[in-house]
Amino acid sequence: MASIQAEAQGPRGRAGVAAWLVPLLLLVLAGIVIGAGRVAGQRAEAELADRAAAAALLAASPLAAVIDKQRLIPMVLSRDPEVIALLAAPDDRSRLLLDEKLAEIAEEASSAVIYVVARDGTAIAASNDNAPGSFVGSDYGFRTYFTRAMEEGSALQFALGTVSGRAGLYLSRRVDSALGPLGVVVVKVEFDDLEARWRESGLVVQVTDADGIVLAATDPAWRFGTTRPLEDEAATREALQLPAAPMASVPVSFEDGGRARIEGRPYVVAEVPVGPSVPGWELATFLDAGEPVRSAARTARAMAFLAGIVVASAGYGLMRRRRGALARQAQLASLNAELERRVAARTEELNTTNVALAGEISEREAAETRARRLREELAQANRLSILGQVTAGVAHEINQPLAAIRTYAQSGARLLDAGQAGDARDNLGEIVAVADRIGAITQALRGFARRAGGELRPVAVEEAVDGALTLLSGRIRDAGAAIVRAPRAPGVTVTAGRIRMEQILMNLLQNALDAVRDTPDPEIAIRIEADAANVRISVADNGPGIPPDVRDQLFMPFTTTKETGLGLGLVISGDLASEFGGRLSVDPPGPRGASFTLELPRAE
Ligand code: ADP
Repeated sequence: MASIQAEAQGPRGRAGVAAWLVPLLLLVLAGIVIGAGRVAGQRAEAELADRAAAAALLAASPLAAVIDKQRLIPMVLSRDPEVIALLAAPDDRSRLLLDEKLAEIAEEASSAVIYVVARDGTAIAASNDNAPGSFVGSDYGFRTYFTRAMEEGSALQFALGTVSGRAGLYLSRRVDSALGPLGVVVVKVEFDDLEARWRESGLVVQVTDADGIVLAATDPAWRFGTTRPLEDEAATREALQLPAAPMASVPVSFEDGGRARIEGRPYVVAEVPVGPSVPGWELATFLDAGEPVRSAARTARAMAFLAGIVVASAGYGLMRRRRGALARQAQLASLNAELERRVAARTEELNTTNVALAGEISEREAAETRARRLREELAQANRLSILGQVTAGVAHEINQPLAAIRTYAQSGARLLDAGQAGDARDNLGEIVAVADRIGAITQALRGFARRAGGELRPVAVEEAVDGALTLLSGRIRDAGAAIVRAPRAPGVTVTAGRIRMEQILMNLLQNALDAVRDTPDPEIAIRIEADAANVRISVADNGPGIPPDVRDQLFMPFTTTKETGLGLGLVISGDLASEFGGRLSVDPPGPRGASFTLELPRAE
């Protein structure tokens, strides 16, 4: 019942599930694909951020190294005796010697230029004295790196060179003597080489000062650009010695989480302080986050999509298999249920039939019992009826011998009186013979009157026929019927009861005698034929034959055409025959008379 309901609801339920499951799965897949893209993008960005941080450190360390190295130069030179001597008492020869020395140092240390400025701000020696655009003689009294060094001992300034027009970092140191400050030693460093190296390694780098002004960058156009609004642009420009043109902001905008945009394109950015010698300076490296992040996200999305498709296909396959298995199970269950139902119905039917059959059997048994009892009663009645007839015959049969005995006795007495003892003896012999005859008849009667039943044993057929004929001998003689016995079967025995078998034969013979009553030459033929299994005894007469309307009902009780007949003879005879395992039947009608055959199992 439950399985039938489940089956009925199954397809509708599945359709319902599919209606929301498919969009849900698509949503989940879309979510996974988008999520995978995002995660991969973030991971790619994080990787880029790591690389950018490493690159920033790698880029910042040579810058810091250069600055630290260059800082040492003015520090050392501020104590140099030649510098002090020249500042204390300038003379051309010393200047030329110092120029040479400064040029050597600048060459060696890759400084842009090294020069010595006198207390009044005029350069009195320079590493580029022998080149065009020598600093010697130029007035640097207004430059911050000079004034601040004179005041504070040392200074650091990034600015555009007034003579060279090239940007660089100026590092200055005051030269002191016992008489007081003599002047300032200045070294200028340019970062062009470093910038070129950064560019060569494919980096985007910018170095900014505390105000956010770009001092060095891989893109030369960015130099002196601003990364944020300036508080005092005039002062800044003054400090940087920039011309009056407005300061442009660089096309870089910083965003949260280490992201930045250059001309609108996304980059990952890492910033590190350049070092303690240049406080406020920051170096930033930018790595393009557009294509790498996009392609990582794309790849991840494609992979996730493929994985989703594979998982969905596998899931779908599994689901279909499971659904198929469920459907098969349901089908099997319903088949089983149907089978069980049919078996139950059939069992029920069989039970009913059995009950009916049992009823019929017991009814039949009761009917058979009744019929048997009836048959037995009828057999007894028939026997009595035959007995009555036989008794009449016997009375007739015995009367004659009795009369004969009397006659023989009377004439014997007379013969004795006459002294004819010999003849009288003959008479006595006749009397003995007649008495024997009577004895035989009474003997047969006694046997016949004994109740039927009992064991079956081999009975000699010829003897049984003889017995029956003997019992009926009176009637036969009266009828004047000829008894023809051929073929005969001496010694052949059948399995039967002697009395009952004689009863059958007597019945047949009596009917034959009745039939030939009005026949001119009455004849009764008794034929005995035997094969290995059976013996057939037929009794045929030459009477009028069996009326056609009676023929079919011969073995039905009370079928009779005789005034005083009971219509039981053939019924009982047939019954007895089957008791012996044989049968009694009427033979097909012949040219004359009637014929019956008693068939019995052969005893040996
Ligand atoms: P009943 O002799 O008391 O009538 P049976 O059962 O012996 O009962 O016989 C039934 C009937 O069969 C007889 O009445 C008779 O009509 C018919 N029948 C039996 N034997 C013969 C025969 N040899 N020839 C003609 N009719 C016969």
